[in-house]
Amino acid sequence: MLFRKYDVVVFKDNEGACRKTCFRGWHVVAIAAVILGLVAGNAHFVRYYLDYMNVQGQLQAAQKTVEEQNNQLLSLANKLRTVDKDLVRIRDFDSKLRVMINLDQDQVDTVTPVGGPETKDFSDSYLPIYRQELLARKMHNFVNQLSTDVRLEEVRQQELMRAIRENQDILASTPSIWPTEGWISSRFGYRMSPFTGRREFHKGIDISGRTGTPIYAPAKGVVTFTGVDGGYGKCVVISHGSGIITRYAHLHKYTVKKGQIVSRGELVGRMGSTGRSTGPHLHYEVRLNGVCVNPMRYILN
Ligand code: ZN
Repeated sequence: MLFRKYDVVVFKDNEGACRKTCFRGWHVVAIAAVILGLVAGNAHFVRYYLDYMNVQGQLQAAQKTVEEQNNQLLSLANKLRTVDKDLVRIRDFDSKLRVMINLDQDQVDTVTPVGGPETKDFSDSYLPIYRQELLARKMHNFVNQLSTDVRLEEVRQQELMRAIRENQDILASTPSIWPTEGWISSRFGYRMSPFTGRREFHKGIDISGRTGTPIYAPAKGVVTFTGVDGGYGKCVVISHGSGIITRYAHLHKYTVKKGQIVSRGELVGRMGSTGRSTGPHLHYEVRLNGVCVNPMRYILN
């Protein structure tokens, strides 16, 4: 049957002519095989293509997820950094309070978090995918450190509250507010003298403002000096007890008398430029047992 000869005759209408084609049985089988092969190949290709589209879709979805996770990680990292900053600020404030009520004797001008600076480089804005795991691990450690710090801070504050309750009288007479309004034009410590051009120790802070700006007592105390004191110009000194005195120099005028008891927030004078001064400012000095200390340690607001 495969090798039997078959004839196909095609008659064309109206022409009377005809065309004859002859073939053998195996021809039909071969053509059928080719068609089958093509169909099978196409089906395979279609399936492959559908799979490919599917994987492509999944890849896009995965990329989107990774991107979202990236953004979440970055935003979390930023939030953590804010929390860390807040904690440092709280701890700083707390340390100031502790110094003021003599819970800590040590200097507190520089406060570094327990976590240290190396835990803080986790939130770079550029974040390749391969760094995600590293970042997540770092953040995890950082959060652990932060929660330990917060618990420690809580304990410290409870101790502080107890001390504050026991020392309310001392607190009322410990300087704790800005004595005037203005901007700091010179800080405590070594500086170049505006008069001699040489390095000198600045015993207080200079707060510049307009002539006549009110100056207030930063705590309860007794006025121990009013008058002109050399380079200080018109000057007021208040003794707050516990070895703390505050000095207000270069005043335009003073509004208290020697021996007068003042309370926190009470007007003591007006800003001026008397004595060795280059413009209206308040030179504010805090002395502890005769030693000049950084007045910023006694400003909480
Ligand atoms: Zn000064």
